[in-house]
Amino acid sequence: MPDVIVVGAGFAGSVMARLFADDQKRVLVLEKRNHIGGNCYEEKMNGIRYHLYGPHIFHTKSELVKDFVRGYGDWYFYEHRVLGKIDGRLVPIPFNFQSIEILFSKEKAEEIKSRLLAYYEMDSKVSIMDLKNSEDAVLREFGEYVFDRVFLHYTAKQWNTDISNVDTSVINRVPVVIGYDDRYFSDAYQMMPKNGYNQIFENLLQSPLITVQLGVDAKERLQFRNGKIYYQGKEFLGHVIYTGALDALFDYHYGALPYRSLDLKFTYLDMNYYQPSAVVNYPNEEDFTRITEFKYLSREHFQKGTVILKEYPLTYDYQKKMIPYYAILNDQNLALYQKYEQEAKKYPQLILCGRLAEYKYYDMDAVILRALTMYEQIEGM
Ligand code: FAD
Ligand code: UDP
Repeated sequence: MPDVIVVGAGFAGSVMARLFADDQKRVLVLEKRNHIGGNCYEEKMNGIRYHLYGPHIFHTKSELVKDFVRGYGDWYFYEHRVLGKIDGRLVPIPFNFQSIEILFSKEKAEEIKSRLLAYYEMDSKVSIMDLKNSEDAVLREFGEYVFDRVFLHYTAKQWNTDISNVDTSVINRVPVVIGYDDRYFSDAYQMMPKNGYNQIFENLLQSPLITVQLGVDAKERLQFRNGKIYYQGKEFLGHVIYTGALDALFDYHYGALPYRSLDLKFTYLDMNYYQPSAVVNYPNEEDFTRITEFKYLSREHFQKGTVILKEYPLTYDYQKKMIPYYAILNDQNLALYQKYEQEAKKYPQLILCGRLAEYKYYDMDAVILRALTMYEQIEGM
């Protein structure tokens, strides 16, 4: 018997496995997919690396997380830039002063910029909701314009509901920039793994104390009964770190937790580059939300050809074996999640960690920080 069982080999599971192994614990990692890396996993098409579960760009404010991941592979400096197709033009997203200059007349652009600077500091980031509700008529009109062109339809596509039903923390992930900063993220540390994410995960899980079993659904091995956990029929007394969806663990007993999924369409093109930046967002006319061109992320400029990805949002249905990509954050869904959480609390050895298990909109760095912090708490118990 191992000392610890980890379910899922994404960042949450792999970081946990590593920390326990560093403390001389024998760790068994069960992963239902046939690969490690969770949603960060990469494959290659005609020699070009791409992210099978959607584009993953690493960014963090946390020095702890930055230092931790640097311990498991080489990373290069990479700042992500995104354009959006607005009124037929490609403009920086987050919407910034350059976007204003491209889309408005010179006179109007000057008026909007100077009015923005009267209210906000240069280089600050503002919520679209604040602009839309501004006391200043020019800013309100500008806010309405950006809301309508950038947020309204993209959000309707992505979440299949009116923007008013979407948690503002989701919308506020993309601010409006007061100035010319055209980076998608403003975190202090922004980077990509030099040899890809797969290698980072191989290094994280590289230990004589870690056994990884792929293609194993933990549900087939673990039973949860009356506050006790059984592994292949025998009572298991160690910690179980669970990083999958919590409703699945308890057989959807209280009903399925709502998620959004994606239909990801990858295409190899026999051309050097398809578009002028790593990602172009299509908020309005198209059915997809964005196109990613992976050569920009992996810096494989020397490669012939290019791989692009179009993301088509989908309603998630667990019975159709879809992938739960985005938790839908609202009071009703959080109340349902809490029912499962109460169920999980009956098993003191069970630790829930990660984007799925905690039903949160975590970025990679947040998941890593969460695993590091939770591990400390477990050790302190
Ligand atoms: P996952 O990576 O989902 O890993 C969970 C693992 O558990 C999976 O491998 C799954 O197969 C396994 N599992 C589940 N149930 C079982 C079971 N019963 N038995 C065995 N195994 C099981 N973050 C960023 O920081 N930057 C980005 O640019 C970014 N882009 C994203 C783009 C998309 C389209 C999406 C959906 C997410 C993006 N994220 C990004 C978020 C990032 O993917 C997550 O924060 C991170 O991968 C979560 O790690 P995790 O370990 O919690 O979950
Ligand atoms: N969003 C938008 N228009 C854009 C980009 C983002 O309306 O051009 C909104 C949309 O609701 C989206 C949210 O902001 O779901 C967060 O965007 P982000 O790019 O952070 O999403 P992710 O990369 O996690 O899919």
